[in-house]
Amino acid sequence: MNNYSESHIYDVLIVGAGPSGASAAYWLAEAGYDVAVVERKHFPREKTCGDGLTPRAVRQLEDMGLGDALTGAHKYYGLRTCGYGRELELRWPEHPSFPPYGYVITRHDLDMLVAERAVKAGAHLFQETEAVEPIIDTSSSPERQPSSGSDIHPQGAQDRLSKLLGIRAKCAKTGQTMDFRARYIILSEGTASRISRSIGAKRDKRLPLGMALRGYYRSPRHDDPFIESHLDVRDENGDILPGYAWIFPLGDGRVNVGVGLITTSGRWKGVNTSKMMDTFIANAPASWGLHPEASCGPATGGRLPMGLSTSPVCGPNVILTGDAAGSINPFNGEGISYGYETGRIAAACMGRALCGGGSDAVYDYGTRIQAAYGNYYKIGRTFVKMISHPEVMHRCVQLGMHSKPFMEWLLSIMANLLLPDSNAPAESMYKILNAVARVAPDPEYLSISIPFTK
Ligand SMILES: Cc1cc2nc3c(=O)[nH]c(=O)nc-3n(C[C@H](O)[C@H](O)[C@H](O)COP(=O)(O)OP(=O)(O)OC[C@H]3O[C@@H](n4cnc5c(N)ncnc54)[C@H](O)[C@@H]3O)c2cc1C
Repeated sequence: MNNYSESHIYDVLIVGAGPSGASAAYWLAEAGYDVAVVERKHFPREKTCGDGLTPRAVRQLEDMGLGDALTGAHKYYGLRTCGYGRELELRWPEHPSFPPYGYVITRHDLDMLVAERAVKAGAHLFQETEAVEPIIDTSSSPERQPSSGSDIHPQGAQDRLSKLLGIRAKCAKTGQTMDFRARYIILSEGTASRISRSIGAKRDKRLPLGMALRGYYRSPRHDDPFIESHLDVRDENGDILPGYAWIFPLGDGRVNVGVGLITTSGRWKGVNTSKMMDTFIANAPASWGLHPEASCGPATGGRLPMGLSTSPVCGPNVILTGDAAGSINPFNGEGISYGYETGRIAAACMGRALCGGGSDAVYDYGTRIQAAYGNYYKIGRTFVKMISHPEVMHRCVQLGMHSKPFMEWLLSIMANLLLPDSNAPAESMYKILNAVARVAPDPEYLSISIPFTK
């Protein structure tokens, strides 16, 4: 149990111990900083997710020393993609930086493993402790804060985050209010983003947002070596939808079944994901045995903020990570690896800030995030726009399902597993898209605030 002291000033305080908060906590604690994390839930806790870890996520977990801890989880080797009566088994590519396998593991188990790892490295974890209010440094006037790139942001000149002295939190067990003070703060609250919003972060509503629903089923194919996606999901009228359905085997007798939909376009806002799920379950391949009696409980859903849709992602002494920063990959809805990665980048910036770099180092986070994902996500956003037209989605899937090499390239692009310095087909295709993305006048791209213009 951690000792709470109102007078203590941590180096870094982190709100939320999901993938992005726990990763930031681990890397900072491992480097010797004095880190506290407040988490409103108690681990292990349920978290609505598809539970799929791609090679990108596995790499981050292995870097945190959790490779052995994952051996009990279900290992899989690629994606079986299905649509229009065809199916293709696509293995994860061989890559110098990422393993050719992934895992399916419940967030109930996974998030506890990573949080425990951060604690073992020295982070102080306060569970059942909910951040309720930011403690704003009122002596730091907005005029004196560096610009965060708001000149190009349509949401205007309010585009700045407040400087914080700490966070006011509430302990669920005792009802006690606790003020946590810190020199630097990382907000890793997920989609709830209560504190981020209260200090000025906004999601750009024109950028992609997904809605997804998942449930667990007992299945005879619970240990299938491939995860499965269905690209021709339909509404109850039989019309094709801009999304996909998945079946991810957990290896423990169950599979995680879900549906996801891009809802940015007004046309899809009204789609009922529960009905979409029922339609998918009713039409799923019989071999999975997904009948209602095999259900382990009601499905639950959540939002997926994609494509770096939140800004600013940093302020004078604050950084947003993971879903709070809208960092989900718009190509495939993957957010766990980007949570780990943004948490790690945030830790690097905070480390430099604490070593004398000050707020310059904090603002560098915006630059690094853009360098890591800016162009790739720009292409992803265009992809999302395209598939929001059912006729385009229909045509592309129909054509793609006739060519395994094409779908293998597409998988490398969509899972962000391209080889560096390669002229193989997937990489060449991406280079062309990237070149187009760099020169194309995309108003959405301009709307992303780049918080590094000091
Ligand atoms: C249905 C669904 C399926 C998905 N499937 C996949 C998948 O298969 N693979 C994949 O890679 N991604 C998937 N995602 C996306 C993935 O779940 C997220 O991108 C990921 O969880 C983001 O991690 P995070 O740390 O940013 O936020 P979260 O995982 O949401 O963690 C935030 C943490 O902060 C805590 N918290 C929130 N507010 C406060 C507060 N005020 N005070 C204290 N603590 C607080 C929460 O309790 C939580 O523990 C899916 C999402 C959904 C909705």
